[in-house]
Amino acid sequence: MKIGIVGLPNVGKSTIFNALTKAGAESANYPFCTIDPNIGVVTVPDPRLAVLEKMYNSKKVIPTTIEFVDIAGLVRGASKGEGLGNKFLSHIREVDAIVHVVRCFEDENVVHVEGKIDPIDDLETINLELIFADIEMLDRRIEKNKKLAKTNPQEKANIEVAMRLREILEGGKMPHDDDFTVDEWEFIQTIQLISIKPVLYIANVSENDLHEDNEMVTRLKVTVRENHSGSHKDIIKISAKIEEEIAQFDDAEKAEFLSDMGLEESGLDQVIRSGYKLLGLITFLTAGPQEIRAWTVTEGTKAPQAAGKIHTDIERGFIRAEITSFEQLIEAGTEVKAKESGVTRVEGKDYVMKDGDVTFFRFNV
Ligand code: GDP
Repeated sequence: MKIGIVGLPNVGKSTIFNALTKAGAESANYPFCTIDPNIGVVTVPDPRLAVLEKMYNSKKVIPTTIEFVDIAGLVRGASKGEGLGNKFLSHIREVDAIVHVVRCFEDENVVHVEGKIDPIDDLETINLELIFADIEMLDRRIEKNKKLAKTNPQEKANIEVAMRLREILEGGKMPHDDDFTVDEWEFIQTIQLISIKPVLYIANVSENDLHEDNEMVTRLKVTVRENHSGSHKDIIKISAKIEEEIAQFDDAEKAEFLSDMGLEESGLDQVIRSGYKLLGLITFLTAGPQEIRAWTVTEGTKAPQAAGKIHTDIERGFIRAEITSFEQLIEAGTEVKAKESGVTRVEGKDYVMKDGDVTFFRFNV
């Protein structure tokens, strides 16, 4: 799962990206790697892992991860090839969700590309580029199968959907799934459009504005909520500067710093958690004395496909899954007691995985 970080130049994207990946790199316990200077693998914080580690006295803990990509270079005119625009737009097509950073801090020393700080203008500039790029994509799709549509009713319907979608985008709006039927939306998802991807907006504020929304954040929140009624849109406020500092700390220092600031959670933890939710992801867990491990699947994934995340052989030879919810396992105290008290369930191939399922797969080799 990949999340792309977009926004105008100098809004704080790299600061956020660096803090995200640095935070991962600093926790020696967690696997981290840099695939590319602009791609970072970030661990998903999950307090359940430490609890299981203690219960099983495990040798190792492996959290689950998501990938963040720093997509620089989006400016006004990008869809027309301005500033290598097309190259960056193609990177955005490859991600599963978008984090859109908007500048809501004042600082004379940090130049704004458009010469003034206005989060609504900034947001619209980026969104318009994404919309233009998608219109071009739709035009190509419509053009390509125009002939076929004359004889093929399905294709005719598809083109009509593409035209309707084009109209929404031309009106400067982002399309929502509730504008279309389930079948239509399924077709839309086969076109690699950017503007249908889930978006998390980040208002990047100065550290003094973390507690109370400044005027820019207030306006931004209204705009996001008005224009994005869809279920996959969210907005959070963070201070990239503070996150940069926090990323240098170890866990104890981080906790102290956050409590001094009167914050419950770092902005980055919020970004990761919201990103996870936005993507419709859930975590199941495997536990034993060798290792405790978290695995990511999308909501609705059935037991055999979840097993396939661990190894394709386990999916192929799937017999059953023995599942205890994390809460019930903790309540029982041990795996043995959970089995004795009957809270460990035996589930078959149609079982839909739930977040926090502590799972043991039985399979034929
Ligand atoms: P990008 O071009 O969007 O990746 O922006 P950068 O992360 O490189 O940030 C551009 C400049 O703004 C850098 O000098 C940052 O230190 C600074 N910056 C980023 N976030 C903040 C912030 O919250 N407050 C202030 N005052 N400066 C910031």
